[in-house]
Amino acid sequence: AAKGRRKSVAAQEPHKGSKRLSCVVKPSDTQVKRGKFGEASRPNQKFYEMIQIFRETLEITPMATTDHIEPHKISVCVRKRPFNKQEMTKKEIDVVSVPGNGALLVHEPKQKVDLTKYLDNQVFHFDFSFDETATNDLVYKFTAKPLVQSTFEGGISTCFAYGQTGSGKTHTMGGDFTGKQQNTTKGIYALAAQDVFTYLNHRKYAHLDLSAHVSFFEIYNGKVYDLLNNKAKLRVLEDERQQVQVVGLEEVYVSKAEEVIKLIQLGSACRTSGQTSANANSSRSHAILQIVLRRNGRAATLHGKFSLVDLAGNERGTDVRSNDRSTLVETAEINRSLLALKECIRSLSMNSDHIPFRLCTLTKVLRDSFIGEKSRTCMIAMVSPGMASCEYTMNTLRYADRVKELKGNTKASG
Ligand code: ADP
Ligand code: MG
Repeated sequence: AAKGRRKSVAAQEPHKGSKRLSCVVKPSDTQVKRGKFGEASRPNQKFYEMIQIFRETLEITPMATTDHIEPHKISVCVRKRPFNKQEMTKKEIDVVSVPGNGALLVHEPKQKVDLTKYLDNQVFHFDFSFDETATNDLVYKFTAKPLVQSTFEGGISTCFAYGQTGSGKTHTMGGDFTGKQQNTTKGIYALAAQDVFTYLNHRKYAHLDLSAHVSFFEIYNGKVYDLLNNKAKLRVLEDERQQVQVVGLEEVYVSKAEEVIKLIQLGSACRTSGQTSANANSSRSHAILQIVLRRNGRAATLHGKFSLVDLAGNERGTDVRSNDRSTLVETAEINRSLLALKECIRSLSMNSDHIPFRLCTLTKVLRDSFIGEKSRTCMIAMVSPGMASCEYTMNTLRYADRVKELKGNTKASG
């Protein structure tokens, strides 16, 4: 059913993949409503009221943990984070609605030439949409959890967190922060690790005689740094059989979830160390946690691999204050890698023989993720709720839309 719904949207709007609904409220209308919504001092009060009026017409389908999860080769989901304290203080207005059933709306505030304010309401459809009340547990259940099982079935699974800096990628993958302290037991990394050990001890997989190993590294400006080995800089090599190797990457044997969590803490601390502000550099790099399943025995043959990727922030470097050369190079590299990633996922969805994985380091090291019958990918697009982030939010949603749009559409390109 989910597939059919997406296709019909794409068919109606082949260019955008989103549907526009218009809602114009004349200034006189809002005068009448003022009492109802209070807070006349809020900046953008008019837009706030228009969005509230629009929301009254929305039919909400709440998400239940009992919802059925179809295993997808590629699934694309979206998660909206709640407002933070700063945004609350500024009385930011919430321009994102999540009615459920995979749908998400952006109420983009616009103004006509005659200064009439109106909303450009755009609808997007994904496999699942999570609103600001969703917990990491819930998000995990519908995104990464099915991939853990697929890894035990001998698959190469990959889960990406995509979005602008501050939209909740690290919160979702690595766990919640209270101040500078990260609760790594509540992130998708840790939840996946727990399930890996549940499956390892499961009757169904015991005969495979598997063991789990963990690697954790980051890619910054096209270079690989080992987060489990003091950020040692590593080389990426491709052999004549197109097998890609990160030379010297630490792969730590783990026997229980607690050990994985310790490694996540170690690696996350390593990732942000030396930074003045916690977000400064980590938001400009991709972090990749890999859980590798190997057959016990001397050959230690690879059975399955699960990569969990906290991507670099997708914002373009439009900030004039940071307009120095190194930032521009950084930004160009990030854009290049995110575009390459999109192309590679598209190739996977089209079962293409040609995977453009050589385009950048990110897709090179993830080459296995884009080939083979048993590859499964999930992308979680993170969005901020505020009007100030509207443009970034639209960019994120358009990208996510492009990733899934082409399913079965071999003509799509660009
Ligand atoms: P990113 O990694 O995308 O730059 P973060 O994960 O660091 O963003 O999130 C930015 C801030 O927002 C953090 O303080 C984080 O704790 C908070 N945050 C993000 N998502 C949520 C959420 N779903 N619920 C509560 N707080 C969140
Ligand atoms: Mg982050």
